[in-house]
Amino acid sequence: MAQASVIPAAPILEIKKLKTYFFLEKSTVRAVEGVDLTLPHKTTLGLVGESGCGKSVTAMSVMRLIQSPPGKIVEGEIHLHRKQTGETVDIAQLDPRGPEMREIRGGDIAIIFQEPMMSLNPLYTVGDQIAEAVQAHQKIGRKAALDRALEMLDKVQISASKQRLHEYPHQLSGGMRQRVMIALALSCNPSILIADEPTTALDVTVQAQILDLMNQLQADFGASIILITHNLGVVSQMAMQVAVMYLGKIVEFAGTRELFHNPLHPYTVGLLNSVPVLGRKGQKSLVSIKGMVPVPTEIIPGCAFAPRCPRAMEICHEQQPVLRAVRPDHQAACWLYGESSLSVL
Ligand code: SF4
Repeated sequence: MAQASVIPAAPILEIKKLKTYFFLEKSTVRAVEGVDLTLPHKTTLGLVGESGCGKSVTAMSVMRLIQSPPGKIVEGEIHLHRKQTGETVDIAQLDPRGPEMREIRGGDIAIIFQEPMMSLNPLYTVGDQIAEAVQAHQKIGRKAALDRALEMLDKVQISASKQRLHEYPHQLSGGMRQRVMIALALSCNPSILIADEPTTALDVTVQAQILDLMNQLQADFGASIILITHNLGVVSQMAMQVAVMYLGKIVEFAGTRELFHNPLHPYTVGLLNSVPVLGRKGQKSLVSIKGMVPVPTEIIPGCAFAPRCPRAMEICHEQQPVLRAVRPDHQAACWLYGESSLSVL
């Protein structure tokens, strides 16, 4: 059942016109091509789209973890409201390896990946890794950091937590490793948790447990979550707002309930029609979106979705639609809702 949309509070993160490119020998991959996104305090925002749409590159840009070269933020701003200092900084302007960015990573924004082994070091015990993260951000001794590690393992409901503290990642199951990742991510009490396909590698039962846990921890810790996923079922359970991404751009943005009941952009409609969504009325059969997401190496003159869109018109191949409010709190970038065609509503 979709959660109600929320009245956005003051934003904790504001991304403006973000562009992140990868400069390859013979071409330039425009992975993120002008993303605008606002994350309010204590909100879960779902960022959805097929593989290759730029969701993860957006997240890695926010973390300043884009490998350079070949990657680079070429334009845009990423404003973060820092809870420790009360100031707002533009992350895009910071040195990715500098002290402020190291403080922000983990202290203000933490990330968890689909595969926990991407973040967990196989050579160190679970306790050592959490304690080290805590000590990197807080001036506390080893004993206090290990106590904090144990407290976090209990918070993520790891059984026999005292024993697990001294175990290595390979000794844990996939679900347990993901719990450890969440414990590690939340150990420094960040304001924002980015979860990149956090449950995709897990079986359905464990997936549900991890999602429940994230919901509960969000309430306890008061963090905002950016949930990156291609799974609309997960979004409908978890997110308050949803941004749909296609070929490096946000093409639709709305409260979750509104988006699931009144999708506007043909790409969103295609995504919804291609998966069974529990509780969605009127879904008769599953239909896949034709074609694939193209590799973003060329500047497309019109709407990037036009070659796959069942409703494409002449203007769609000539001019890019911009993201604009079509209903209150519901934005779409589509010529079906251009100024001259509001009557389609
Ligand atoms: Fe389809 Fe045109 Fe809308 Fe693009 S702008 S999604 S091609 S109708």
